[in-house]
Amino acid sequence: MDELLEQILKECHHYTKEGKLANYIPELAKANPDDFGIYIISSDGRSSRAGDCDKKFTIQSIVKPILLLQALMDNGTEVVRQHVGVEATGKPFDAINASDQTLLSDHLNPMVNMGAIAMCTLIHGETYEEKFQRLLELTRKLAGNPEICLDEAVYLSEKRTGSKNRALAYLLKTYGMIGDEVEDVLDCYFRACSIRVSCADLARIGYTLANHGKLPFTNESVFPVEFARYVNAILMTCGMYDGSGEFAIKVGVPAKSGVGGGIMAVVPTRMGIGIYSPALNAKGNSVAGIKALENLSQKLYLSIF
Ligand code: GLU
Repeated sequence: MDELLEQILKECHHYTKEGKLANYIPELAKANPDDFGIYIISSDGRSSRAGDCDKKFTIQSIVKPILLLQALMDNGTEVVRQHVGVEATGKPFDAINASDQTLLSDHLNPMVNMGAIAMCTLIHGETYEEKFQRLLELTRKLAGNPEICLDEAVYLSEKRTGSKNRALAYLLKTYGMIGDEVEDVLDCYFRACSIRVSCADLARIGYTLANHGKLPFTNESVFPVEFARYVNAILMTCGMYDGSGEFAIKVGVPAKSGVGGGIMAVVPTRMGIGIYSPALNAKGNSVAGIKALENLSQKLYLSIF
């Protein structure tokens, strides 16, 4: 398997030249566009790797499925469903998805920024500091890595420049969809996006979603199978931004991308995959990362369809 992954990275490496680094969060523009790594954990207990799979990068939107899990674990599906819808918006992740008249929870889903900002309010905790710590602990647990921490520079960079997210959060507040102080909620969201991970961390989190909520190797159950189903279904329809339909056809597994260049893919019952390549297409997805997944899906028959 390591050889297969090496070969795929080699075949797809030229695609790293086709994308652009995210620069609307200035700190993200410091990444090396040449970096390309992949890590896979399979149900036979093996892990395979190739390329720059030890590089650290910020999780960005790949925290959204973890936020959703934390919200589900704290409140159950009904409450979460009341606050954040489940339908694909077909629009970019930071779109202002409100009509002239109103904004409803059905206009959001957990994989767009408005949905994720609203989910921060659903995490249990006395303060936003405590809510974030609980989310960080869940991330560490799912990744089996107690050393995962915040990338302070990226966090401050986004906090300084995140006016679009501020606009989205104030809209949520205007329409009564969040009650708390906007800056407190946003601070939790910006920190969540700035959690620093590697491909191996993403592969382990993806594997737990593929394995009905049970951690790799120990099989310890962290969340019930119904939550895995809920999250995976939404990843399938909304995880790759407004490129999710095409990704479903070409790769055919639940996955989530982030503007830091990561992709976490979930192959139900079979594997968790973590990829890193920070050059992005216009929708915010890693260009080479998607190509590698297409290639891998064809070779290993990964599509669930
Ligand atoms: N922190 C980023 C933002 O809110 C996350 C975007 C993403 O990865 O899709 O703009």
